[in-house]
Amino acid sequence: MDIGDEAVMDRHGFDLLLDLLRRRGLRTIGPVVRDGAIMHGEVSSTADLPEGWHDHTSPGNYRLTNDEGPELFGWAVGPESWKSEFFLPTETVWRATVDNGEVTLSDVKDEPSPVAIVGARPCEIAALGVLDRVLRNGAVPDDCYVARRDGAFVVVVECGSPSGTCFCTSMGTGPAASTGYDLALTELTGPGELEHEFYVRIGSLAGAEVMALVPNRPADDVLRSRRQAVVDRATERMGRTLDTDGLPGLLARNLEHPRWADVAERCLSCGNCTLVCPTCFCSDVKDTTDVNGTVERRRHWASCFDLDHSYLHGGAVRPTTSSRYRQWMTHKLSTWWNQFDESGCVGCGRCVAWCPVGIDITEEAAAIRATDGASLMDTIAQARNES
Ligand code: SF4
Ligand code: SF4
Repeated sequence: MDIGDEAVMDRHGFDLLLDLLRRRGLRTIGPVVRDGAIMHGEVSSTADLPEGWHDHTSPGNYRLTNDEGPELFGWAVGPESWKSEFFLPTETVWRATVDNGEVTLSDVKDEPSPVAIVGARPCEIAALGVLDRVLRNGAVPDDCYVARRDGAFVVVVECGSPSGTCFCTSMGTGPAASTGYDLALTELTGPGELEHEFYVRIGSLAGAEVMALVPNRPADDVLRSRRQAVVDRATERMGRTLDTDGLPGLLARNLEHPRWADVAERCLSCGNCTLVCPTCFCSDVKDTTDVNGTVERRRHWASCFDLDHSYLHGGAVRPTTSSRYRQWMTHKLSTWWNQFDESGCVGCGRCVAWCPVGIDITEEAAAIRATDGASLMDTIAQARNES
């Protein structure tokens, strides 16, 4: 088998694939049902996958149901993104001991065991591409991220069941996978006597090597059209849209738009949106000391919604909720383009579903587009006219 080859395997083949990856020393991490959500966990066989489970999302809502159907990937995304596998929520950066005035640094770098991520969605692979650009290929690569990311084997599963908050089609990141994977699977199910199978596209030599050991049959036109039907149906069922036409410029010229004050009335500044976002990569460090003379620096995820995040010699640069929400949204959809020549949003919809008050980035962008050019002065003038 070779890069670009396409084949079909059944569920037993999928089990063998997982087994082969594990025999190669990879931790196979994939979707599991935990705490009422699709989370990440150890997946040693397809029995561990969320068979029959479906997610239902809307602004501020996430719910799982099970219809006992055969689908293993009949859901969109859970609250965890693959960012947490490579860029840990918290980790020790360095540790030192002080003894009689002597400072001794100890090695805190663990040797991460290589991982196979199984069941990542195309939008999540796009998000990893965004993180790679910053943390792996940027001017100062992040050693911890690179060590985990470099040996990773990626099995993407194309989306057949987008949820109500998904808008990857608007962002050009899904529901089909186009790059960034070793193997791309599409789950083919019914109706009727049609077999439950997985359409496989090979994206790397490592993927070809392992697939050569999995029983499969070559793809034909019938199977190709079944795969395409899955992707087309997912495109039609996308829960949301975001009009990206001229969006970076639209937001850049509306920094004083009254909508920022409106969203601040609802936003709790809780930072949930940044934690669930697969592309947010801000971090902070905290130093601790103990009475035994051990000093430790830990890095942890940070959020631009924290007041301290923009603290500069004497005060926070973004003291209001409106300025912090504006920073977050304009960075994702506008200034990220200036920095990285791509969007900081991949359309996964997590920030919409997991915002406790249901603030919807697509709705906020649409509201600003609908009143492009409005400013606080306009609003004040309008209020004066009305009074
Ligand atoms: S901004 Fe929201 S929709 Fe976009 S990638 Fe982040 S969490 Fe997903
Ligand atoms: S937009 Fe929602 S999730 Fe984000 S900080 Fe505000 S309330 Fe929290």
